[in-house]
Amino acid sequence: MSAKNSEQFRSVVRNGMCNRCGSCVGLSNGQIRFDNKEGRYLPRIVGTPDEETMKLVLSACSGRAFNFPAQRERLFGDTPSHVYTGAFRSLHIGYAENQQIRSQAASGGILSAMLIYLLRNKHIAGAVVLGMSKEKPWLTAPFIATTEEEILEAAQSKYILSSVNEILPEIGAFDGKLAYVGLPGQVQSIRLLQQQGHPWVKNIEYIFGPFYGNTLHFSSIKSFLRSHGEKDYQQIKQLYFRYGEWPGNMRVEMKNGKAYQLKKFHANYLIPFHIVKNSLICTDLANEFTDVSGGDAWAPVYEERGKGFSMILARSEKGEALIRQMQADGWLNLTPIDLETSITMHSHGYDLKKRGSFIRMSWMRLVGMKTPDYGYRLSGFGLSRYLMEAVIDLLFLVLGTWPARRAVELLPPTLIGNLFEKSRIFWKKSTKNIKRQNL
Ligand SMILES: Cc1cc2nc3c(=O)[nH]c(=O)nc-3n(C[C@H](O)[C@H](O)[C@H](O)COP(=O)(O)OP(=O)(O)OC[C@H]3O[C@@H](n4cnc5c(N)ncnc54)[C@H](O)[C@@H]3O)c2cc1C
Repeated sequence: MSAKNSEQFRSVVRNGMCNRCGSCVGLSNGQIRFDNKEGRYLPRIVGTPDEETMKLVLSACSGRAFNFPAQRERLFGDTPSHVYTGAFRSLHIGYAENQQIRSQAASGGILSAMLIYLLRNKHIAGAVVLGMSKEKPWLTAPFIATTEEEILEAAQSKYILSSVNEILPEIGAFDGKLAYVGLPGQVQSIRLLQQQGHPWVKNIEYIFGPFYGNTLHFSSIKSFLRSHGEKDYQQIKQLYFRYGEWPGNMRVEMKNGKAYQLKKFHANYLIPFHIVKNSLICTDLANEFTDVSGGDAWAPVYEERGKGFSMILARSEKGEALIRQMQADGWLNLTPIDLETSITMHSHGYDLKKRGSFIRMSWMRLVGMKTPDYGYRLSGFGLSRYLMEAVIDLLFLVLGTWPARRAVELLPPTLIGNLFEKSRIFWKKSTKNIKRQNL
């Protein structure tokens, strides 16, 4: 085993750069494993991987390095782009015309609709998706869906740590073309493997992905249960993060027949207590290296209507051709929007990723920590933005501690969720100007 490569790998993990994409586990032939998915969920070298394996692992590690400008150029050439959104051929608000898909999905059902359309028209034989584990229904599990039912079963966003690329060997062994859905770090790693012509990703024809604000540790689920007086997460029968009408509810069904449910916006109270710190140094909100990305259409005009609306960014030629064909075939309802509207709709998220993440990384480097090499740096924000960042980081630091997590469990989640939602609206209003400066 190469000590240097292994040390580099450990340094990625130690410095909080691992985004848990799962590629290292998938590529290591059992030599690297995730230790404790209900805990810190970190990859660990358990065997004696040879030098070639560790080289491959590092070359596919998007937590360590992913050159945004160079990859944008390589994948999308001179397609119009913006540093916030990435390359785009078209920007739309839309939804799947099929009511079943739309109502079972997280937002407008765009991602599931594309997978089902491709499968039905035999453009793919399977789709790499993230469902819930059959053996441990409190955890997520990536799998290759080969039926429309399986694609729908995997719909909706999962907000706990997950590692889709763990199943790279299965992807490589699959007989037929695939579509792939993943978060930015996962997608970037697939792109790195495609760039080096790795045989396991050759059958991936389409890459789709959700927008990505943040993800939570599994402790969020344990904490939510403890707030309801439930001590054993292994009694979970079914876990949903976007159950019911858009924007949906977090819902936990127990084996004893009880069910606990909280509106998505209220369940967001778990974020400051359980956020995965790596989310805060990821600079990719819009999943910039997909063929098509989908986010929530966050605007009062859509939120009031419920039902489910997505923001859709088609980036590649084949991504654009796909959504146009689906529109012509009556599968998608699409309304074009301009770049400014699309950025303003997610100004909070872009601020978090394209300002906050860069400020946080610069502070990390100041104290001698390593940070991912994204091939670009944004800087020069106003003083007020730096001060705002100091407040946010201090809050995350304090609320992420054990006593704070325990204290919040003493309050009913409906109450704390309500309070959180109100303070979030207040915070968003009072920081609106800071966040939208030069957006
Ligand atoms: C962790 C996370 C954070 C997000 N943050 C934001 C945000 O800040 N702003 C915003 O506008 N939108 C965010 N989204 C995206 C949003 O929740 C919807 O996923 C998106 O709008 C697509 O909706 P849809 O109805 O088209 O997807 P659906 O039709 O419901 O399909 C969702 C697809 O995504 C896959 N998937 C779900 N969870 C994961 C996961 N954790 N890892 C990999 N694949 C997954 C599923 O397998 C499924 O194929 C986030 C999603 C996730 C998973």
